[in-house]
Amino acid sequence: MTSPRLQWWTAAALTLVGVCVLGVTSVHFALPGSTVALWWPAAGLAVAFLLATDPGPRRSTAFVVGVLVSSAAANAFGGRPGLVSVLYGVANAAEVAVVHGLMTARGRRPRLASMDDLWRLIAATLTGAAVIGLLAGLTAHLVLDGSFLDSASAAASSHGAAVLVIAPLGIAVGIRRVRRPALEDLVQWVAVVGVTLWVFHEDQPLPLAFLPIPGLVWGALRLGLRTVAMQLLVVCIVSVTMTGLGGGPFAAAREVGTIRPETVGALTQAFLATAAVTALALAVASTQRRAALAELRSEVELSGVVLDTAASAIIVVDVSGTIARLNATAARLLGAPEDQLVGRRAADVFPVDVRHAASPGGGSIADGTVPLHEEQDWHVAGLGVRHLVWTNAYLTDDDGRRTHLVRTGADVTDERAARTFVEAVLEAATATAIIGTGLDGVITLFNRGAETVLGWRAAEVVGTHDWSLVHDAAEIERRADELGLEPGFEVLVHRVRGGAATETRDWTFVRQDGARRTVSLTMSGIRDESGALTGYLGVAEDVTRRRQAEVALQVALDRERQAVEELTALDRTKSDFVSSVSHELRTPLASVLGYAEMLEDGAAGPLTERQLELVARVDRNGRRLLSLIEDLLLHSRIEAGRLELQPRRCDLSDVVASAWTSVETVTSQRELVREVDVSPRPLWIEGDPAALERMVTNLLSNAVKFTPDGGRVTLVAHPDDRCPDAVRVVVSDTGMGIPRADHERVFARFFRSNAANERAIQGSGLGLSIVRAIAEGHGGSVSVDSTPDVGSTFTVSLPVSGSAGPAPASASGTYRDHQDDS
Ligand code: ADP
Repeated sequence: MTSPRLQWWTAAALTLVGVCVLGVTSVHFALPGSTVALWWPAAGLAVAFLLATDPGPRRSTAFVVGVLVSSAAANAFGGRPGLVSVLYGVANAAEVAVVHGLMTARGRRPRLASMDDLWRLIAATLTGAAVIGLLAGLTAHLVLDGSFLDSASAAASSHGAAVLVIAPLGIAVGIRRVRRPALEDLVQWVAVVGVTLWVFHEDQPLPLAFLPIPGLVWGALRLGLRTVAMQLLVVCIVSVTMTGLGGGPFAAAREVGTIRPETVGALTQAFLATAAVTALALAVASTQRRAALAELRSEVELSGVVLDTAASAIIVVDVSGTIARLNATAARLLGAPEDQLVGRRAADVFPVDVRHAASPGGGSIADGTVPLHEEQDWHVAGLGVRHLVWTNAYLTDDDGRRTHLVRTGADVTDERAARTFVEAVLEAATATAIIGTGLDGVITLFNRGAETVLGWRAAEVVGTHDWSLVHDAAEIERRADELGLEPGFEVLVHRVRGGAATETRDWTFVRQDGARRTVSLTMSGIRDESGALTGYLGVAEDVTRRRQAEVALQVALDRERQAVEELTALDRTKSDFVSSVSHELRTPLASVLGYAEMLEDGAAGPLTERQLELVARVDRNGRRLLSLIEDLLLHSRIEAGRLELQPRRCDLSDVVASAWTSVETVTSQRELVREVDVSPRPLWIEGDPAALERMVTNLLSNAVKFTPDGGRVTLVAHPDDRCPDAVRVVVSDTGMGIPRADHERVFARFFRSNAANERAIQGSGLGLSIVRAIAEGHGGSVSVDSTPDVGSTFTVSLPVSGSAGPAPASASGTYRDHQDDS
């Protein structure tokens, strides 16, 4: 496979050989008596080659030099003297260089697509012809002693005609054939060639030189530039050859002596030039027309597609108000097919009360008074009322008269509805300030709530104020310091600009009247569909009252805490005081009881009945007082978290019996039925016997205390039949009972029922709280079941020895020690 470079050099060499051969032929066929050839197709061939291949400057130059050599050789072979041959060679080369140079000036590719291109070809050909004419004329005059003018004009015309006829072929080889050859091509070819042969036939007596031209025109109009270029060449070759052989009208005229030999040549060139210019001009014009038509067709197609795929309604109305064209969207809105709408008056089909397009009220197209922007509500079947925004444009004719109105309507119903909804939401938020800004901080949105909170009207701040102006400047400065920024709007949106979805914090707004409001402001970014930040939206709630209330609440809580601390300290002091007073009372009281016992025993001599009775009363009250003191001391310990039980394995039956005896001693005077039911078997538990006895004693003394004479007090101690790991001590009575509402409260310290207070039943309100503390201290529990005026039952449940349960509180046996003190 040969490279394109090599191909070009080969083609160039062959062309140069052709130039030489054609040159020899032309010299040979030169009319007798003429110093130059009748026709010089070699020049046309050389130019056509350069135009067809359009090589770079280096190759073009080489080719031109080749033309010089081959033309000189042709002249020499044709029998011309050496110097003349060389000079003719130079003249030929100069002509080729000039024509090619003009056709490709300013980097232009050689082409024949417009009349301008044709003019350029003609101008280049004429210039080239002038160059060859000048040089050939000078050569003929100076070297051959011929006439300058005759030689110059003959050379110019023979070369010019050749270039004009053959050069287009060089350009046309690059043009693609657009239509398939048809019968018409054959007929036209036969006609052109046949007519030319007939006209230039040897025996043709009539001056019919013009006759091939209609055939060429036919080809130019119907078959394109390529065919015309080829046919021009054929017509040239036929006419020149046959004229050279003495045929045709021009040779005939010479034969009869009407014209000189040079004139025959000039007439032949004139005929060829006329045929070429006519045919080429028509071919170029018709090619241009076809291209323009194709372009127009594709533009019409494109605009049709654009119209039909447009989401907007497009309606073209002519000056009389008649619809000239409309697209599918418009037809859909008008509720009829396009072909039924075109030709109807717009005023009759627009489903709107105020009709435009040459209609009264809407302005007239001819006067240009239809507004360029308008909004209309259309009642569209099946879609209801649609809100359309129209943009109108006038079309004018060459005289500037308005001929049509192009109406482009966008259906903005849904967008308007959404906007109205958002506006309604913004306006409904009367207590919440919603403020929008652009990226620069200039306010773009200021809702009713913002007006309420800040006292400014939207119209006063939108588009003019920077948001940071409604803030407390000192606060902005402080925050700017924290963030390391300059004070200003950036401080408010720094986090959001940095990528945070929202930022919520308290700020101080300064109202128009100068008042300050604390607001909780949530700032977020507004982003477009591509996610780019386009502005900011802040939602602020006035929290001034809430923050004030929170501060007040905090102050109150601090005060409360302080008061509690003070009261706790006071309570501790009081407990300590009660504890120490109780201690101090117990010792002398024990002494009083001891002396009373001695008196009863007769240590001071026998006592009378009356004296014994009084001593017994001293002993009873002293014991009650001692019991109270014991309760107070125990309570102090419980309060201080120092109950300090000393558990050991003991029989609960013994504990219960001991408690029963001590209570019976104190209440022997009371007329009560007493019943004891204690398990005959030992009830082993892990416990502190002294504390447990105190517990049972408290329950029994309550039962006795709150049961009037004649009632019954019962003490039961048994294994718990509902729970095998527990024992139960149940103290019940038929006394005054406890209202249900007080059942839980009776175990609270210092609680005394109203009934107990009203009936002046003595007591401290500590007994049951001590019972619960001791029961729970042993891992057990106490409960009450009571009905007013029927009686009460207190049940203590304690875990048996070895069963699981909370470890009894244990310590240094303090409780026992204190018991021993008494
Ligand atoms: P005190 O007996 O010293 O008042 P307690 O703590 O022992 O204090 O009892 C608290 C209150 O519970 C009593 O004031 C009384 O109202 C009520 N209460 C306790 N035991 C009985 C009972 N057996 N019958 C009726 N009420 C009782």
